Amino acid sequence: MDKQEYKGIPISPGMAVEKPYFIEQEKKEIPNEKIYDVKAELGNFIEACHKTITKIEKMEKEAKKRVGGKEAEVFAVHAAILKDQYSFISPVQQKIECEKKNASLAVEEQLKFIEKTMSESDSELFQARASDIRDIRNQLISEILHSELGSIPTKEPCIIVTHELTPSMTMKMDFSYVKGIVSEVGGPTSHAAIIAKSLGIPAVAGIADAMEHMDTEEMIILDGDAGNIIIHASEEEIEKAKDDVRRQEEEVHQLKKYIGCPSKTRDGKTISLYGNIGNGAEARNALQEGAEGIGLFRSEFLYLNRDTLPSEEEQFQEYKKALEVMGTKRVIVRTLDIGGDKPQKAIDIEEESNPFLGFRAIRLCLKRKELFQTQLRALLRASEYGNLAIMFPMISSIEELEAAKEELQNVADALRKEGVLIKDKIPVGMMMEIPSAAILANEFAKKVDFFSIGTNDLTQYTLAVDRGNEAVSELYTIYHPAVLKLIKNIADAAHKEGIECGICGEAGGDRRLLPLWIGLGIDELSTVPKSILKIRKSLAKLDCKKCNKLVDKVFKMNTASDIKKLLEGKEEK
Ligand code: PEP
Ligand code: MG
Repeated sequence: MDKQEYKGIPISPGMAVEKPYFIEQEKKEIPNEKIYDVKAELGNFIEACHKTITKIEKMEKEAKKRVGGKEAEVFAVHAAILKDQYSFISPVQQKIECEKKNASLAVEEQLKFIEKTMSESDSELFQARASDIRDIRNQLISEILHSELGSIPTKEPCIIVTHELTPSMTMKMDFSYVKGIVSEVGGPTSHAAIIAKSLGIPAVAGIADAMEHMDTEEMIILDGDAGNIIIHASEEEIEKAKDDVRRQEEEVHQLKKYIGCPSKTRDGKTISLYGNIGNGAEARNALQEGAEGIGLFRSEFLYLNRDTLPSEEEQFQEYKKALEVMGTKRVIVRTLDIGGDKPQKAIDIEEESNPFLGFRAIRLCLKRKELFQTQLRALLRASEYGNLAIMFPMISSIEELEAAKEELQNVADALRKEGVLIKDKIPVGMMMEIPSAAILANEFAKKVDFFSIGTNDLTQYTLAVDRGNEAVSELYTIYHPAVLKLIKNIADAAHKEGIECGICGEAGGDRRLLPLWIGLGIDELSTVPKSILKIRKSLAKLDCKKCNKLVDKVFKMNTASDIKKLLEGKEEK
């Protein structure tokens, strides 16, 4: 059979090659019969609740041991819902007593009601918790009906393939056998993503009807960095992917010794290694992976996968969470960068024929002022809780930057008038990801506190190559001398004005390019947290003088292929 590749959403990095193991989320048939022995049914309900709560509390303890207190909190919430007299126990008892409904039907109805209320709530937190309710439902109803939930593999290494990975499923798994996770639904902010990332299990979500395409007897390849899965791969591809997995495992083991080490070259030059995150909770993971700060909090993730906008309070809580976790370490939050390849439903935007060049990011924020102001208010309020820096995305002109800064100043003034405490000096920076800004870097450097180079978009816009289009993917290369010249221009401009210059695009986490970044004097690299220790290790082997020489050589070359060859030869293994 021909190889098939499916593109989903990367939710946890790494590579896995195993046979798929399907976990069907059983939907138990709920009996419809009325009951006659009310007392017995009430007893059945209470006993099932006790048993389920005991199991959940056991899972909570287990989760605390495995992934830490924060991720275990979800189980405490599950138990609290089942113990809630007012919104759960009493209504169910009433349905049994007054309406003579059997316990499973009464539970089903009440949990559905709670789930509906939560999913219709404005709070993203409540919406996310709606899937928790489905999880509790399955457990409790299985207990009432005395049946077992779908079994979880314990003996064979496998890639879990399921519709939705729920927290209780993850806690029942013996993770030493789970090498990867594919789910049909779920996003980068789902519980599954958080748990998979903290356990270091590669995972991809959003593979529609995943199960239909696979065979349990055939290996699949999962690439958690690219968000791909490959089925019906050739023998050679499978063997190559297995080699990658072996290398990856060995490396993860070796990397542990770099935790807590300074990020320095062999000859003592320091560079800050930061993490990229998409919500507040991911900051903890970044810290555990050795992040010395957050270089890019992609705030638009708070707006994705939902129909309504996140409120000021919700956003405030997310930013505060990240700031508190990071303590004195810097947290750079990028204001809303929606549009382009980040489609969403919460903001009403007309369909565009060319969204990458359209009404997106700062352009949208400067037109939809209420949207922007809500975010800026949340950010400024959160500034009191840590070391916040604010960064504007997709800036293409001085006017845009001035307008964004003015809006920030206005919001700060209004908040101060309301008596809200805000940090005095919050660094303000900009993404350098549009060629016009890179060309005018000298001018921009006089107006911001830092630059952060978005190599993903800078490459796309410089080369006129869609970063997500397979058909032109060979043309999409950071090694193109024009892209590198723009990066040099940006770094030189920043240093001339004495401001910091970081990289937060994917190239910042690419070890092959590290000597180049050192040679160009890049001050900070921000990458997926799992790459931080790898970069720290490579950094420790580099020598600044050699990096400078390499930069000289690179900028004498005219083709991407020559530069790539040169840099790949220099990669530190
Ligand atoms: C970039 O463009 O390099 C970047 C970091 O932003 P995003 O990938 O979110 O567009
Ligand atoms: Mg970008």
